[in-house]
Amino acid sequence: MPARIRSRNIYDPASKEPFKISRSKIESFIRCPRCFYLDRRRGVGQPSSPPFNLNIAVDHLLKKEFDEYRAKKTAHPLMVKFGIEAVPFDHPSMDIWRNPFTGIQFLHPSTRMLVFGGVDDVWVSPQGRLMIVDYKATSTDSEINLDDPWKAGYKRQLEIYQWLFRKNGFEVDETGYFVYCNGVRHEPVFHNRLNFDTVILAHKGNDGWIEGVLGQLKACLDRDVLPNSSEGCEFCAYRAASRSVEMFQSEIDFGA
Ligand code: SF4
Repeated sequence: MPARIRSRNIYDPASKEPFKISRSKIESFIRCPRCFYLDRRRGVGQPSSPPFNLNIAVDHLLKKEFDEYRAKKTAHPLMVKFGIEAVPFDHPSMDIWRNPFTGIQFLHPSTRMLVFGGVDDVWVSPQGRLMIVDYKATSTDSEINLDDPWKAGYKRQLEIYQWLFRKNGFEVDETGYFVYCNGVRHEPVFHNRLNFDTVILAHKGNDGWIEGVLGQLKACLDRDVLPNSSEGCEFCAYRAASRSVEMFQSEIDFGA
């Protein structure tokens, strides 16, 4: 099988050009600098996984639904139900901000990182403060909350969008929201229908960590040595185990 080494979207320490870095790549750096470095500096990305098509469908339909209220400049019934005094933000750049390939962007001056991220939605209070919104879909019998440790990544996602909007000159409320749709499992039959219980969860964001992480991320990309792996990564344990078996096998093959 040919080696899968990319030649595009690779950081060059000698270049003075801005380097485009998505919100999700910042998250991948936080999770493991080594995999991030292999990807953005050496062109070896992790294998892709199939898209979560049901989640994508929920996102798409929610966007269409909230757009109806954006056009009417009125609150969506869920916003009323959860006591959020705002309406969906109607702005000419909304489609660009929601596009995952363009998103809202900001060139961070000291690192020359062009940070971007495609937001799900933005709401606006009567005072003109923006509220950043992310849609999530799941299916669980447990109560939906933001307490699971792995949801720290969701919170960072919201905080990066808050930071990007602030850097673009908007006044952004520290509270952002997750519109969380939970596919109900305890229906008696399927009949081609999946019903959802939807809740809106608030998160008080703090974007104070972002510029420090961008500095660390740039320092990581500027170096010529591989950073250490994260501890406890199942995939790395798998790679190490495969490597040791393959080396053992090639010794046998060589000796045979
Ligand atoms: S621990 Fe290993 S496989 Fe896991 S993310 Fe890091 S480098 Fe990649």
